[in-house]
Amino acid sequence: MDLLQKVTALAKRRGIIFPNSEIYGGIGGFYDYGPVGVEMKNNLKRYWWKNMVDKRENVVGIDGTIITHPKVWEASGHVENFGDEVVECKKCHRRFREDEIDGKCPNCGSTEFTDPRSYNILFKTEIGVIEGEKQEAYLRGEACQTIYLDFKNVVDSTRQTIPFGIAQIGKAFRNEVTPGKFTYRLREFEQWDMQFFVHPDDMQEYFDYWMNERMEFYKGLYRKHENLRFYQHPKEKLIFYAKDAYDIEYKAPWGWAENEGIHWRGDYDLTQHMKFSRTDLTYTDPKTGEKFLPNIVETSGGVDRTFLMLLFDAYEEEELENGNTRTVLKIHKDIAAYRVAIFPLVSNKEEIVNKAREVFDSLSDDLKVVWDARGNIGKRYRYQDEIGTPYCITVDYDTLNDNTVTVRDRDSMEQTRVKIDDLKEFLK
Ligand code: ATP
Repeated sequence: MDLLQKVTALAKRRGIIFPNSEIYGGIGGFYDYGPVGVEMKNNLKRYWWKNMVDKRENVVGIDGTIITHPKVWEASGHVENFGDEVVECKKCHRRFREDEIDGKCPNCGSTEFTDPRSYNILFKTEIGVIEGEKQEAYLRGEACQTIYLDFKNVVDSTRQTIPFGIAQIGKAFRNEVTPGKFTYRLREFEQWDMQFFVHPDDMQEYFDYWMNERMEFYKGLYRKHENLRFYQHPKEKLIFYAKDAYDIEYKAPWGWAENEGIHWRGDYDLTQHMKFSRTDLTYTDPKTGEKFLPNIVETSGGVDRTFLMLLFDAYEEEELENGNTRTVLKIHKDIAAYRVAIFPLVSNKEEIVNKAREVFDSLSDDLKVVWDARGNIGKRYRYQDEIGTPYCITVDYDTLNDNTVTVRDRDSMEQTRVKIDDLKEFLK
């Protein structure tokens, strides 16, 4: 089994990620997060928000809708041109994005393909209930458009002045031709986006600044920094308004894979929306009185992709001294579903169970705590290792005498005796 298969199996087995509609045979490009996965994903989004919004005085957040005025997608260019060049294998008739085939069909090895055709990957829907009067609309193909739509409202309603950023985490939908590689290419997914509005003269400075900031962010999240790199888009492939573009890539089991894009969007988006909405989106500098159309540096990453890369980054199989192996997710402690698991050594001794409950209650206000009283301690460690719980606390007979518990560390497997009163400090 390769790492992708191992991670997919673990995710299913431990309630991290499930195939959507599985009882109906599943549906390509859609996945659900299970009881453990939803905790991790929420932690991951909080981690990004803390880094991008809470810690910065010049970035504010919004939460925009999935369906917008349909003209938005005309203005953005998505209605006319949002998709991939798709070819069909002449032998097995499977379809692929042209940029995915390396001479041969990935399915049957044939080298004969149809000419490429363009497909639009926007999802359509309808607003209204009366046939004939329904308005065609789209599920957003990228989350950032709502940021441009709210730009003027944010300027008018907050104390922000340029340069400043607007951040958002939200769903995007793309009718991908070849969804796959687990949650790497989905049809419904979440993006974390930040659009930084600057004076045109300051573009290069902030482009460089955000490249560095975003790489540092991923370095803080992943353990294996050798698996991170920048990929610079070739100049000849840049979209006409972009002076530069980089992807932050992580080395997935199948090769380098895009995690986030840092894009030079210039004034393209605001220009388009000014044109289509006939609303003035220029900005007046409150100090100098200068009127200009802000330029934009975009940082746009995938929550689901980062989540998947984190699983690759964290997954380890370790030989133990007794000859057994353990599977452990050495995931960032702030992303783990639970900070600590509480075990009563035995579940049929009331004093021990009550004491363990006390410990649980004393910690659960400040930390995400999980209770585990099934099976023996060895099995509980195995389970908690597989979901990446950084600490396990066992309440035993000694606890009843000296008010100490055993704290076991996920990564080193070291066990330390800690006073219950000191636990909070120890775990933080
Ligand atoms: P790709 O080239 O892989 O299709 P993209 O360059 O079209 O991606 P962007 O439009 O720049 O992607 O979107 C920003 C981020 O959103 C990507 O870096 C990725 O993390 C995430 N993303 C894009 N498409 C998908 C998808 N189909 N499934 C999951 N995440 C996605």
